Amino acid sequence: MIDLHNDIDEILITEDEIREKIQILGSAISDDYENKDLVMISILKGGLIFLADLLREVTVPANIDFMAITSYGTDTESTGIVQLLKDLSSPILGKEVLIVEDIIDTGLTLNYLIQTLKARQPLNIKICSLMDKSVRRIVDMPIAYKGFDVPDQFVVGYGLDYGQKYRNLPYIGVLKEEIYH
Ligand code: 5GP
Repeated sequence: MIDLHNDIDEILITEDEIREKIQILGSAISDDYENKDLVMISILKGGLIFLADLLREVTVPANIDFMAITSYGTDTESTGIVQLLKDLSSPILGKEVLIVEDIIDTGLTLNYLIQTLKARQPLNIKICSLMDKSVRRIVDMPIAYKGFDVPDQFVVGYGLDYGQKYRNLPYIGVLKEEIYH
């Protein structure tokens, strides 16, 4: 962990701040989804840790499912052209879908996924995102449950990677520019 930490310029969101925010989000979701057929969908791999922590703060019954995608682009920029690597394991027809995302940047990836999921006729689809990099948004994307606004910087940790590294850092940090330039 020490060596990964050395690549971090600045800690943007601490472990404690993440924990506190997830308690607030979990409580809001629990209030809103009482007596509903909730399925929380995580986008692998980045959303995995957030889902695991959020799920434990949700007190109503919740199903979970996963999708894995690769989005084409550079290491730090997505294009919205997405290939589905792993689909959901169950139908979502008539269900209340909550997409649990790590970060929304341009919104292109999620826009593509939502179009795909809508065709399967869930009752509704809402978004919960730990982070919102709204300054870079290209597609309008209403976030029902939002953790933190983040500036236009490339962040890693708490599930988010750069070249498959740094996911295991317990906080959200800004990577030193020399690492990816
Ligand atoms: P979008 O399609 O909204 O531009 O990009 C969404 C995806 O790009 C996120 O789910 C995440 O995987 C990746 N992404 C966007 N910004 C960052 C960032 O600052 N750090 C990391 N590690 N991934 C990011």
